[in-house]
Amino acid sequence: LNRRLTGMGTTIFVEMSALAVATGSVNLGQGFPDTDGPASIAQAAADAVLAGKGNQYPPGPGVPELRSAIAEHQQRFYGLTYDPDTEVLVTAGATEALAAALLALLEPGDEVIAFEPFYDSYAACIAMAGATRVPLTLRAPGFRPDLDELRALITPRTRLLLLNTPHNPTGTVLTPEELAAIAELAVEHDLLVITDEVYEHLVFSGTHHPLAALPGMRERTVSISSAGKTFSFTGWKVGWVTSSPELVAAVRTAKQYLTFVSAGPFQYAVAEALRLPDSYFEDFRADLTRKRDLLSAGLTAAGFRVFEPQGTYFITTDITPLGEKDGLEFCRSLPERCGVVAIPNVVFYDNTEAGRSHVRFTFCKRDAVLEEAIERLARRQ
Ligand code: PMP
Ligand code: GLN
Repeated sequence: LNRRLTGMGTTIFVEMSALAVATGSVNLGQGFPDTDGPASIAQAAADAVLAGKGNQYPPGPGVPELRSAIAEHQQRFYGLTYDPDTEVLVTAGATEALAAALLALLEPGDEVIAFEPFYDSYAACIAMAGATRVPLTLRAPGFRPDLDELRALITPRTRLLLLNTPHNPTGTVLTPEELAAIAELAVEHDLLVITDEVYEHLVFSGTHHPLAALPGMRERTVSISSAGKTFSFTGWKVGWVTSSPELVAAVRTAKQYLTFVSAGPFQYAVAEALRLPDSYFEDFRADLTRKRDLLSAGLTAAGFRVFEPQGTYFITTDITPLGEKDGLEFCRSLPERCGVVAIPNVVFYDNTEAGRSHVRFTFCKRDAVLEEAIERLARRQ
């Protein structure tokens, strides 16, 4: 393993999901739903395979049907206009979009400011690009970005801001005021911004605001999302980028040599999914709001300090009230102690002190599974 990837051996999601299987635990760690998305969309994928749509290499930028559906989605929900031919790129999940964007836009030695805790692929991809990660710590209990701190972190080497809203794992959703302040800094310092919006349809109060909609931002923002979370098909790995023709062309160049294209038939199905009526998006959000409340109450009753998320399907907790200090140790022993798996937030920090006692639970599971986990946590040794 080269120096850039030293210490990045196995992601926490692999470690913890393997532990869940080995111990027969309830897995509230890795974020994937235990119920598939709409049957009509699964049928659309099967129909595409059987009709021979996308079974051979589809076009590199993505099938035209999906690129149009992505552009329509951006218009329908945010009033953002993108040309499906030049301003939309389909990727193998948001993960590839992030990798391709970082590899395409960074020079070795560039600095990237990213919120921490950060989704773990950010650190790895910034490292693979030979760039330097500069964390802006979101601190408990509010997990808001300190905008003065952000300003102070910007140097002549800063090339890019990497944002994630709604934010995994804290559930922070950036407010229009925070986004406006970030946009102002980006314009002032001529920075590019990558925004990871994979949880765009999982906001429990208020709405998601895309940074690209703010003045001066469309041409410097690479917006990333994916079908995995919104439609509960995380295994399909269909993601996308929307941006200016220049930035999309740059990301496409990198993407060509990572995967060339993404799986064809799923793209036709995701095109249908993006055109589902508003009721789908509303019901999805209502269902997860209820699950959030269920898990939040259960964790509180079991003695955890719960930080209410505004979005995503994760709840971050503090284990200090349980007489525990170390989230990593806690998560490694929890399966044996009570048969539940969670994720220690500390692995998503450079400044590990800020997240040492934080543990993340996902609630994108059936009610019975959440109830079983709550019961087990309440009985833990
Ligand atoms: N970004 C964030 C913040 C995530 O939580 C995830 C997890 N799925 C991804 C990106 C990756 O998305 P995908 O599965 O579409 O690659
Ligand atoms: N995004 C999901 C999570 O944070 C899954 C990540 C993964 O499996 N790499 O749990």
